[in-house]
Amino acid sequence: MSDTQRLIRRSIWPLTQLGRAAFRFVFPPSCPLCHRDVELHERVDLGRSIAPVLCDLCSADMLPPPSRCCLRCGLLVGPHALIDDGCPHCRSQKFRFRRVIRVGLYDNLLRTACIRAKGTTQSPLAAALANLMWLQEQEELDAERIDVIVPVPRHWTRRLVKPHHAAETISRVLARRLGKPHGRGLLRKIKWTPDQSDLTAAHRKLNLKEAFAVRSRPRLLVGKTVLLVDDILTTGTTANECTRALLHAGVAKVIVAVVAVVPPNSR
Ligand SMILES: [Zn+2]
Ligand SMILES: [Zn+2]
Repeated sequence: MSDTQRLIRRSIWPLTQLGRAAFRFVFPPSCPLCHRDVELHERVDLGRSIAPVLCDLCSADMLPPPSRCCLRCGLLVGPHALIDDGCPHCRSQKFRFRRVIRVGLYDNLLRTACIRAKGTTQSPLAAALANLMWLQEQEELDAERIDVIVPVPRHWTRRLVKPHHAAETISRVLARRLGKPHGRGLLRKIKWTPDQSDLTAAHRKLNLKEAFAVRSRPRLLVGKTVLLVDDILTTGTTANECTRALLHAGVAKVIVAVVAVVPPNSR
């Protein structure tokens, strides 16, 4: 950026802020889930307000009560459970990713929000869920020293039918918050597959075998730590197959970030 551009930017910045404040006064922001007005002081991160955000009531309803959780799969564990190499839910699973960072369990209001965030016009809700994750899990995300953020991709035919993809919106917001590149398109789904939700665990693995591949731009990925982002983690098969493709392309480490983890009794 040249000195002139910097000067222009500095001089119009207060006007931009004033314009934004006036717009928000006339059209106060609302919660994308319950549509209540959100207070103007709302959520602040590093001195800057972030938007869109869920209202305090929705946010509080979505967050699980403070309890121990397994870093490997994101599920809740008892106070005395040994979780160094996973918990009873995931110890037998061969996960290739290192760990899961999530907002909560796929239950109650968080489940409703995740389902609704998939809707065609619901990208503000998906973005608000990403901001909720950032506000709750910022320390965990920062500690992983992420280099690039990659959404779990869809097959191109699904993009034609529905442009909005919750995982992509969530990953774009997280990339902005982390100040790291958004690697949309680096990982591709190269095989069309039926919906995973109707399949058993064994069929899910078969269904997604060799379904993902990395584009030939490995410089962005080789030796890097990737944050792989999706809206929901069910059995971990999709995240695992994406991780397999990323590691094959030279990625050093994959951390999974999702809004919600589905408990075993809801799968
Ligand atoms: Zn709300
Ligand atoms: Zn576990």
